[in-house]
Amino acid sequence: MPVLQDLLAALGSGRIEVVDLTSPLTAETPILRLPEPFANTTPFRLLELSRYDERGPAWYWNDIHTGEHTGTHFDAPVHWVTGRDGEDVSQVAPGKLVAPAVVLDFAEAAGADPDFLLEIEHVRAWEDEHGPLPEGAWLLYRTGWDARGGDQEEFLNDGHSPGVSAECARWLAEEKPILGLGVETVGTDAGAAPGFEPAFPCHSYFLGAGKYGLTQLRNLAALPVTGAVLVTTPLPIVGGSGSPARVLALVER
Ligand code: MN
Repeated sequence: MPVLQDLLAALGSGRIEVVDLTSPLTAETPILRLPEPFANTTPFRLLELSRYDERGPAWYWNDIHTGEHTGTHFDAPVHWVTGRDGEDVSQVAPGKLVAPAVVLDFAEAAGADPDFLLEIEHVRAWEDEHGPLPEGAWLLYRTGWDARGGDQEEFLNDGHSPGVSAECARWLAEEKPILGLGVETVGTDAGAAPGFEPAFPCHSYFLGAGKYGLTQLRNLAALPVTGAVLVTTPLPIVGGSGSPARVLALVER
């Protein structure tokens, strides 16, 4: 059977499930908060144009106000100074938006310590059990942080949220053949990462290496450790540093 026919049959029979990894976009969707003197993004907003009224009797529609880095979103290389000569979000090859994914689950550790950092030894231990991080794959880092996604304060947790150590970020970005890093937190870096050397090491190393970031993912617990395929759909904002994205995982049941 042709491959796409086979895929559709598997989707129809439930042999392949589509899992939505996306946080809903509302005015309450948590957003990053940088200290003075840095500029901040503003919350997502719907600006109503008409709703079956004199402004448009048969139709309802809105403008939207959103940051590029709001909710579940994609970080393009040009987002960071280390990747300033790299791709903007419209330039990412479509072929990279359908990619394998592996899940490294540290929800228990991050539950016990909100400042938990992924280290090289953790990834090496994972590789001993599951094999090398696959080429061109998303590394999805599960921390259980998605459970806090309904509340800005709980989500930001006063700057205490899990991430990746600077040493591990450099190693993953520069020595591993992965496509990028996906996280459940507000950004790819730990809450304490402004004080790391370098500051924001995941942004610095991954985007500097032409790799990508994905944030505020949900439902990683529904994915297998290996074998899922991610369909990631940032908007092709010309010159954009990132974009909100719907992220779907295809999972074989
Ligand atoms: Mn971002």
